[in-house]
Amino acid sequence: MAIKQLEMAGELLKLDPDLLELLKHPKRSLTVTVPIKADDGSIRTFTGYRVQYNDARGPFKGGIRYHPDVDLDGVTALAAWMTWKCAVVDIPYGGAKGGVTCNPKEMSISEKERMTRRYTRMIYELIGPYVDILAPDVYTDPQTMAWIMDTYSELKGFKVPECVTGKPLNLGGSQGRVEATGKGTAICAKLAAGSVGLNLKESTCAVQGFGNVGSIAAVNLEEMGCRVVAVSDSSGGVYSKNGIKMKAALDHKQETRKLAGLKGCESVSNEDLLELDIDILIPAALENSINESNARKIKASIISEGANGPTTLEADRLLENNKVFAVPDILANAGGVTVSYLEWVQNLKRESWSRDEVLSRLEKQLSKAYYEVYETHNKHNVSMRASALMLGVGRVAETVKTLGIWP
Ligand code: NAD
Repeated sequence: MAIKQLEMAGELLKLDPDLLELLKHPKRSLTVTVPIKADDGSIRTFTGYRVQYNDARGPFKGGIRYHPDVDLDGVTALAAWMTWKCAVVDIPYGGAKGGVTCNPKEMSISEKERMTRRYTRMIYELIGPYVDILAPDVYTDPQTMAWIMDTYSELKGFKVPECVTGKPLNLGGSQGRVEATGKGTAICAKLAAGSVGLNLKESTCAVQGFGNVGSIAAVNLEEMGCRVVAVSDSSGGVYSKNGIKMKAALDHKQETRKLAGLKGCESVSNEDLLELDIDILIPAALENSINESNARKIKASIISEGANGPTTLEADRLLENNKVFAVPDILANAGGVTVSYLEWVQNLKRESWSRDEVLSRLEKQLSKAYYEVYETHNKHNVSMRASALMLGVGRVAETVKTLGIWP
């Protein structure tokens, strides 16, 4: 999917075929073995990856995912998307991604800590604040970043907070980082509503995935006046046509660790949630949830993609035929990396900015990117996804051309 998207962008940009071929390959892929001592004394062996896709525009940058489905192909695709994403929002980073194939739900905190520290040790020589900066992704969080930073710093011999972003505040994390991705997804939905003439205050939305990105996007959309009628997590979803109060959903999720059983709601499956009669759909779980089998049935007029790669290529075409206005992942979830960049800048300068300052910079940067993509969409009469890819891939290709191939 990532390669096909790149080919589409290359065709639209009339890229030199040799340059396009170069952009299809990651600069470096690292596979590591991560053994840990489990709580029961046995040794467990995991496989970890770090794919550094392209650093023409700046140091590599990208999250770390802990999930049973993590594999080299998937991590490579995510690393490519990070590259275009950083270019779309015009921050001076390249793209990377990493992960460990594991089931974090079956691991204790101390096992996760040992796995994180060993993984960091295994990739240590190839990361760092001017080389490759790590961040959270699925099932990794500020605590994971704290362990990575501490391991990296211990090996260096001094504190290096700028080697990871998404850290806890007391270790140099940025105000606004936790909510940045979800907030960005909601901002993109709001801007899209403006583009298609939808009044947010009379609109309804559904959010698939109620983790960091989905729950914060839902809270922000609620604050913007939109009625959130359905939300879901891996245990299934809940629906109420009168709207779900996000505070109640968050409290319930915290108490029971799932959304199922939320008072006053009917249950809805993750599949059915996507096909509800709503205005705005936020996919914020995993890849490929919108595919050939359900794309025709989607009734939302706007999709703002919180997740990475939630829409397959076939589904994309079907959505376009049905005039669904989809803000692609590399724009709609770029809020996280934008604030990661702001965190890194604060760390390098040993400064700490207020939440208002960070969030207003985020909104400015993301809105600028949105309107650049929207302008490309109008000018070339192509989808928002194709426009974002044209912008992102085009910027990276231009930089690669300027740098030249050495030696
Ligand atoms: P998270 O672990 O906080 O949340 C993931 C959520 O998805 C959980 O609520 C989980 O229960 C749910 N989920 C898992 N499988 C599901 C399924 N089959 N159906 C429905 N829900 C399911 O992760 P996150 O950080 O919110 O990331 C979500 C997506 O956003 C991922 O695609 C990630 O790559 C992307 N993303 C995250 C960030 C970030 O800053 N966290 C930035 C950019 C993109």
